[in-house]
Amino acid sequence: MQDLNLLANDNRGQSQLEAGFDLMGWDEVTQGSVLPSFDGDATGIANKKAEERSYSGFNSYTASVASWRVQKPVFNRDICIDCQNCWVWCPDSSILSRDKQMLGIDYDHCKGCEVCVEVCPTNPKSLLMFNEHADLEESLASWPEKKKKEKKSKEA
Ligand code: SF4
Ligand code: SF4
Repeated sequence: MQDLNLLANDNRGQSQLEAGFDLMGWDEVTQGSVLPSFDGDATGIANKKAEERSYSGFNSYTASVASWRVQKPVFNRDICIDCQNCWVWCPDSSILSRDKQMLGIDYDHCKGCEVCVEVCPTNPKSLLMFNEHADLEESLASWPEKKKKEKKSKEA
C-alpha cells in the first residue's frame, strides 16, 4: 500500500537522474520502438492491483507529477457516498478505490488539478482542496457544514 501522506517533494525523474540512472530522452527513441509498460510476463495484469504490478521504467506509473501541486485534495470518508465520480474523472488515476469503495488519494501521482472536487456531488463535498502542507487531521476538523437550501418566497 502506498503512503497516503506523502508530500509533493519527490520528482522521481529528477532523483533518478541525480542517482546516475541513464534515462532515455523522448527525442532519442527510434520510430517504431515498443516501450513495454510492464517488466516480464503481463498475462492477467488487468486483474492485479496497481501495487502488485511490475511497472517498467517506461510506464508513467514510475514517474510522478506530485511536485506540480500547490494544493492537495483531502478526502473525508464520513461524507462520501462511494459514487465513484472522482475515480472516473481523475485524469491521473489517482483516486484509490477497491470494490467500488473510495479509499483515498494516491499522493504519489495526484497533480492537484481539483477535478475530483468539482465532480463530487455530496453536500458538503467529500473532497476539498487544502494547502499542500496542510495537516490532514486539521483539514478534516475544519470541514464545512452542510449547506441548507434557500427557501423560496411564497409571494414570487
Ligand atoms: S486533484 Fe486532480 S489529479 Fe489529484 S486526485 Fe483530484 S482529479 Fe486526480
Ligand atoms: S465523488 Fe465524492 S462522494 Fe463520490 S466517491 Fe468521490 S469522494 Fe465519494
